[in-house]
Amino acid sequence: MAETTPYKKTDKTISYLNRQYGRMFRRVTSFDALNVIDVSHEIYEEAYQLAEQEATRLAQSIYGDYSRTEAVFDAAGFVLALILAYNPVTKYVFQNEIERKRARFAESVIASTTPAEEIALAKRLLAATNAQFMDDVTFDTLIQAYRDNGTEKVQWVTAVDDRRCKQCAALHGKIFPIDKIPPKPHIHCRCWVREVR
Ligand SMILES: [Zn+2]
Repeated sequence: MAETTPYKKTDKTISYLNRQYGRMFRRVTSFDALNVIDVSHEIYEEAYQLAEQEATRLAQSIYGDYSRTEAVFDAAGFVLALILAYNPVTKYVFQNEIERKRARFAESVIASTTPAEEIALAKRLLAATNAQFMDDVTFDTLIQAYRDNGTEKVQWVTAVDDRRCKQCAALHGKIFPIDKIPPKPHIHCRCWVREVR
């Protein structure tokens, strides 16, 4: 039986977020240091709030799809915990990474002779960080729903296509106790797990 990947909703969230960054970064209208620093705080704060809000919506929706219980899922609390946790795959705490991205953005725009290029780059990097976070929220919410379902074992599922890397291919079909699921092998990994019942 063909199963659909849980990342379809994730992709919708990511596309929605990607449409917002252009508007946010258009706030940079002058390149003097004071203005850039002020505006950088506004942009990254808004981007952070929006990511938190959309991640919460996504988690709620994914949980609803995979949960078979009446358990109450605190999506906002779940997402906040992920925002503040060190992620062993990305090697950062999401909230700290957004602040680092903001600081680098301000620094590069102030120092560069081609600030428009720095803005475009910062926009792409912010989009990539937020997209990765949405993938992580999806994967972790899925596992939480399984846990609440009382599921004890899961099977690793890899998107079977040409781009699948060796590390992911090696995990495909493997069964793990729900408390011993290995971290994803790399960032941008779109593997997931299915329940073994
Ligand atoms: Zn993978």
